[in-house]
This record gives sequence, C-alpha cells and structure tokens, in this order.
Amino acid sequence: MPSHAIEPVVISTWWFGRPANERAGEILLQGGSALDAAEAGVNMPELDPKVTSVGKGGLPNAAGEVELDAAVYWAPTRGVGAVAGMRGIARAVSVARRVMEATPHCMLAGEAARVFAVGQGFEEEELLTPTARQRWEEWKVRPDLAEKSHDTIGLLARDANGDLCAATSTSGLAWKLPGRVGDSPLVGSGLYADNAVGAAAATGIGEYILRYCASFWIVEALRAGAPPQSACESFIRWMAEDQPAYTEDMVAVIALNREGETGAAATKEGFEYALTRGGETRMHAGPYWPEFRRNNG
Ligand code: ASP
Repeated sequence: MPSHAIEPVVISTWWFGRPANERAGEILLQGGSALDAAEAGVNMPELDPKVTSVGKGGLPNAAGEVELDAAVYWAPTRGVGAVAGMRGIARAVSVARRVMEATPHCMLAGEAARVFAVGQGFEEEELLTPTARQRWEEWKVRPDLAEKSHDTIGLLARDANGDLCAATSTSGLAWKLPGRVGDSPLVGSGLYADNAVGAAAATGIGEYILRYCASFWIVEALRAGAPPQSACESFIRWMAEDQPAYTEDMVAVIALNREGETGAAATKEGFEYALTRGGETRMHAGPYWPEFRRNNG
C-alpha cells in the first residue's frame, strides 16, 4: 500500500462481529465504499439464524413477534435511514438504507416499515425460528428463569477515501413490550458519525443508552480531541458515576476516528468486539468499568 493510502478499518460489536467484519473488510479491500461494506457486514448476522439478537433468529417480544430496529449513518452526505419495530424482513439494515436512498425521510416504523420494504422488493419471511419460539414459550411459563437476552451488531467502517459509515441492527431486548424501540435505530444514541471527526455505536440496555445520547457524546469527545479509547471510557465513566445501578447491566460502546484509531469500553466484563485492518480480523475484549475506573480521571 502506498504510504499516502488510507487504510480501511472496520470495528463491530460481539462475536458475530467477526463474520460481519470479514465481509465488510473484503468489500473495502476491493475498493468498495464504507456504506456498501457496512450494509453487507451487518447482513451477515441478520441472515444467520444462530444469532439470537439480530435479524432472523432474533428472540421475540412478549407477544412472540420478532421486531427489528436498524439504522445506517453515511457520514459524507449525512445520509440517515432507519427502521423501528419492523416485522418480517431479516435484512433490516438494508431496508434502513433504502429509507435513506428512496425516501425524503430518515425513519419508518412498525407495519408501515414492513409494507415499504415489501414494496421495495424485500423478501418477507418468518423471523421466529423454532429455537426462538421454544425459548419464548419457556419464558412465558417461567419468566423468572429467563436470561436477559439482547445484543446489537454495531459496525463502524472507514473506506479508502477516508469516508465513514456507522450501522446497527438488532431484535432488541428479548420479551420487550410490543412496540418498544431501543437506542439502536436512533441517531445520536445507537450510532452517530461525522466525516470530519469519527463515528461511534452502542450496544446493551437501550433505555440507558438513549438517555445519554451515547454515540453523539462520544463523537463530540473525539471532536474535542480525545482519542477513541479515552472517549469510550469517559462515556462509561460519566454514565456509571451518574447512575451507578446501570453498571449492573451491559452497556458497551465502540468508536473509530477519522485517523483510523479505534476504542471500546463497557460497564461489565464480557464485551468483545472485532477489529479489521489490512484484511486481518481479530477479536478483542472490551475494557470494562471496574477495570479502568482508576485510570483516565
Ligand atoms: N441496544 C439494544 C436495545 O436496547 C440491545 C443490545 O444491544 O443489547 O434494543
């Protein structure tokens, strides 16, 4: 690579970020845009029924319906597309992109989002897998035994032009009230990007994340000169000191700046993320609040 070339970088959340990053990384190495890379990357867990918190195979709401939230933020044009509480279409981030490209709007919700997607040629299918249905039936009988299940694919990419894209997709919190929408499709909370500065995304309890506009906060910290790692840790510190009870649950954030540096931090142990540079993808453990609370005052 010539010394002036911009190195493509992809960072995304959780174990299912690995195949997402690998797919996005391939597209970037072929000269594709961060937008194309982010969409194709996020489609990987959306279409994998083994991923129980994104797309097909996601755990349903309290009524047994899988409702998906997704968004894309294409920084060079400040293009935004999102869907919230959408049923029946696995590639929710692709529908979000279509909202951005084919309508004058930024977000469609509920049944109207599904109807829009079908009108745009997206294939409708049953998103509730037999495994997810069984877990829902177990939850109905013994809600006290059911684990708190959630997790979002949040993916940030920088392409060879230096353009940035952020994308998210999730089935949200398992057993949520029908119609509940989390942080993931909300600009500034679940994702944000500014082509002159950087991008950020969040995962974890959406009700906490959206109260703090996590992704906007982190990108503004980058604008003020913070490296991505300290911007992520500072966000978790702020929330944890303000609402200590929130640290009993998972909130995690990732960031990527214009220079290609990355960061991640979480309230709890157990958060992992995938990082791709130069075509190579590695998993990393996210530093968590009790671990970094003494540093970085
Ligand atoms: N943030 C997602 C939501 O609240 C879930 C997660 O990422 O764990 O819908």
